[in-house]
Amino acid sequence: MRKNLSVDQCLDALRVLFTGPQILAFVPAVCLAAFWLGGERALVITALGLPLVLALTGKWGSRSYSAHSSGMRPSGSVTYDVFQSELQLISEAAKNRGENAACIAIALDDYADLQDLHGQAAADHVKQQFSDRILSIIRDQDIFSQIDQNRFLIGLHPSTHLDLEACIQMSGRIQSAIEEPLLLNGAGVYQSCSIGFCLLSDLRQAEVDEWIGAASAALAEAQRSGPSTIRAYSIATRRRSLVRANLRKEFEAALDDGEIRPWFQPQVSTDTGNITGFEALARWEHPVKGVLGPQVFLPFAEQAELMERLGQVMRHHAFEAMRTWDSVGTVIPRIGINFSSDELRNPGLLDRLKWELDQFELTPDRLAVEILETVFSRRPDDVITRNVAGMAALGCCIDLDDFGTGHASIASIKRFDVSRIKIDRTFVAKSDLDPSQQQLVSAILTMAERLNLETLAEGVETPGEHALMAQLGSNHVQGFGIAKPMPFEQTVEWIKTHRAKLQGAPKIGRKMG
Ligand code: C2E
Ligand code: CA
Ligand code: CA
Repeated sequence: MRKNLSVDQCLDALRVLFTGPQILAFVPAVCLAAFWLGGERALVITALGLPLVLALTGKWGSRSYSAHSSGMRPSGSVTYDVFQSELQLISEAAKNRGENAACIAIALDDYADLQDLHGQAAADHVKQQFSDRILSIIRDQDIFSQIDQNRFLIGLHPSTHLDLEACIQMSGRIQSAIEEPLLLNGAGVYQSCSIGFCLLSDLRQAEVDEWIGAASAALAEAQRSGPSTIRAYSIATRRRSLVRANLRKEFEAALDDGEIRPWFQPQVSTDTGNITGFEALARWEHPVKGVLGPQVFLPFAEQAELMERLGQVMRHHAFEAMRTWDSVGTVIPRIGINFSSDELRNPGLLDRLKWELDQFELTPDRLAVEILETVFSRRPDDVITRNVAGMAALGCCIDLDDFGTGHASIASIKRFDVSRIKIDRTFVAKSDLDPSQQQLVSAILTMAERLNLETLAEGVETPGEHALMAQLGSNHVQGFGIAKPMPFEQTVEWIKTHRAKLQGAPKIGRKMG
């Protein structure tokens, strides 16, 4: 690829020489030659005619891509507006010359984590370093822009040798440059990036917005396929991104129309069998597709920045359910609600939550804030930490969700004032049959007991698992073995049946001592 590109560069230089304003340097020599060969008349015609021809054919003076590629092109990172107009010139130049060009979109993976772990100033510094690295890879004629918090765009100048393979190689070089470790406060930071690109030849209409949109759609596909991935734009990308755009619109409308609401899964005490709470789990009751689970819509709700809206809708329905249970006399001590990291990043969350609880006349202790363990490895002074600590101070119960799958330190458990850990389903599954699973659950429960934390075992599916969790000392259980998540209308009946069953059932004994 490098060899091809250097041939290309020479051709470009020659093209620039013969089509740019430099051609004027040859005018005296041409006039002299005309005088020698044709006398005074030829001299006059050449001296007047040549500049006129050049002016009329627009070889200088007009804003052409070639003029830019001769060194007038803005260097470094340009604004998005400049990038768009430069890309337009690249597109026109490529069409005129019958060559190909490409737009590349790059996103740093897990940039939000970088911000949370090291702070905004450090994240900005890191981003600048990566910009410099990308700029050192692209050529002078290419254009570059930093957009958003963590995204970059490149326009590759026209070339006969630019094809899919060349773009993949270029993307690979950019990834290698980004993945080189970087020193931050004396520690190595390892960052990867996802890349999507679109060749001009793969675009149906050569509109600049469409071109950038196509590269961004390829980037979104790369991001969905995991970190450090490269994707090229194709007709299929366009089709898939249209389907997703429709789904996103549909999801937003569904939020407004009340098609998204919580289903409720009970949590019971291993001591008494009593219901100690319900967890609210989002469901999309789609009029055509049936009931859809969060795995279908959470990914694009996140992408479309609709997680806060989803959280508000979920809390509204869940708090309403608490009031209704209260009013019919089936008091449920607590409602568990899942909070995404997007919601937890909102500095206004605490005030909003207080207002919502007030609206429904619920005391904060009736809310269990479920937070994934992966959110817990944060810097002590970031917004998430302040929000979680604030909710704990308000009196909410802080549940550490999917415990055992992340890296929460004991210090962070204390700092976040966690009240309860929810032992992940992977440890509970088949624990009554598998001694090594049993050992892991025992170890977690011992740690929780020492730290004075309540415990809940998730994903309890069988009576054997339920009995073992009770025996090992987990305070609460939740899972299909007790009940699957159900719509609100079914809960009152389920609560009645469960309470009736408790009257006659023998208690499952807890571990002694
Ligand atoms: P999670 O918070 O760990 O919720 C428990 C998940 O395990 C639920 O899946 C539940 O249906 C499932 N489950 C419960 N008991 C059992 C069992 O015995 N066996 C098996 N195999 N599964 C069981 P669901 O409803 O599909 O939710 C998946 C995840 O989506 C949740 O995991 C939670 O992280 C997220 N989620 C759900 N609703 C919301 C929401 O409103 N907001 C946010 N941010 N996340 C949500
Ligand atoms: Ca949860
Ligand atoms: Ca969980």
